[in-house]
Amino acid sequence: MKILVINCGSSSLKYQLLEMSNENLLAKGLVERIGDKGSSITHEKTGLSEKFKSVAPMNSHREAISHVISALTDEEHGVVLSMNEINAVGHRVVHAGENYAGSVMITAEVIKVLEDCVELAPLHNPPNLLGIHACVELMPNTPMVAVFDTAFHQTMPPEAYIYAIPFGYYQKYGIRKYGFHGTSHKYVAERAADIMGVNLNDMKIITCHLGNGASVSAIKRGKCIDTSMGFTPLEGLVMGTRSGDLDPAIVSYISKKENLSLSDVIDKLNKESGVLGISGVSSDFRDLEIAVGEGNKRAGLALKVFAHKVRFYIGAYIAEMNGVDALVFTAGIGENDINMRDIICSELGNLGIKLDLIKNKVKGKETIISRDDSRVTIMMIPTNEELMIARDTYALAK
Ligand code: AMP
Repeated sequence: MKILVINCGSSSLKYQLLEMSNENLLAKGLVERIGDKGSSITHEKTGLSEKFKSVAPMNSHREAISHVISALTDEEHGVVLSMNEINAVGHRVVHAGENYAGSVMITAEVIKVLEDCVELAPLHNPPNLLGIHACVELMPNTPMVAVFDTAFHQTMPPEAYIYAIPFGYYQKYGIRKYGFHGTSHKYVAERAADIMGVNLNDMKIITCHLGNGASVSAIKRGKCIDTSMGFTPLEGLVMGTRSGDLDPAIVSYISKKENLSLSDVIDKLNKESGVLGISGVSSDFRDLEIAVGEGNKRAGLALKVFAHKVRFYIGAYIAEMNGVDALVFTAGIGENDINMRDIICSELGNLGIKLDLIKNKVKGKETIISRDDSRVTIMMIPTNEELMIARDTYALAK
């Protein structure tokens, strides 16, 4: 059975095609900078040493998926003759409120529920839905499955997910911490236990998913007990364009001072804040590091604020779990930004976290990056949300 996995972000789209009888990856790829200058698709057929890269204008997720289909069926670097060979499509979906605690087959009713959840995840559910609609249009007879970011965090105890606001708001509106990136946190925690050869149920792990969206999770005996994102993916760490934690009184203060509606302010906190807001340069850490090299002070400040918040959560979760055995970095920044991992881990030696500066010089490959005398094993583990999504899709589509 061949499963296509689609992971649509706001400006990027990752895909993988897997043969599930043996979980073999047939092809994978990445579309970057959708709707921006220089959008491109990089397609990799398993077994071929050369990647195929094409720079082409892609103004929408539908255009991006058309390019994915062309790449998968291409005579030279394709892996299927036609899309009819694909048995099911698994979609990463960010927020389903309290509606689904597990993955589901996508129906018109499910789409309606996800549309209702757009206001909870305004940056994410819309591109997720665009991906679903484009696939339904281009592959009308193929079953589709939705796999939710929120599912893994359902094990949090009430003291971690209840906000200290009138309890009726939780009862009436389901206002609570949900957490996101669950598929990624689960995957890297399981890999960390495998790599260390220790039973996941005997471990305390802190997983740092540091991408354009970023979150930290505390995972005790295989179960998530706390995570930094909240009711929406706006809470927690400083992110590419999102503010993360702040005093809620700031929202009405900005609204009054700038004569903006509350939803406009929230929009600014989602789209114009984070390291982009602080630096005024970019949400992309590669651009920020270039700017720092050119002497841009605010870009340097943005990176420091980001690292400060990651360290803050690491400390908090060590306290919550009364210790930690493994610290894992994953996602775009966690996997590639050697400098940022170094800044985050610096001066955590008293907590048993000692980074090996030589081993840390690694990108995109599962590696233990702690010193031999570090009590906590620090790891860089490329995330594989796609494999987790493919497993759920396979299980439901079978
Ligand atoms: P993700 O959301 O996981 O795809 O991560 C995307 C983010 O990872 C980008 O916006 C960059 O900030 C960061 N990133 C990707 N590659 C690198 C790199 N080589 N060095 C530093 N940051 C990177």
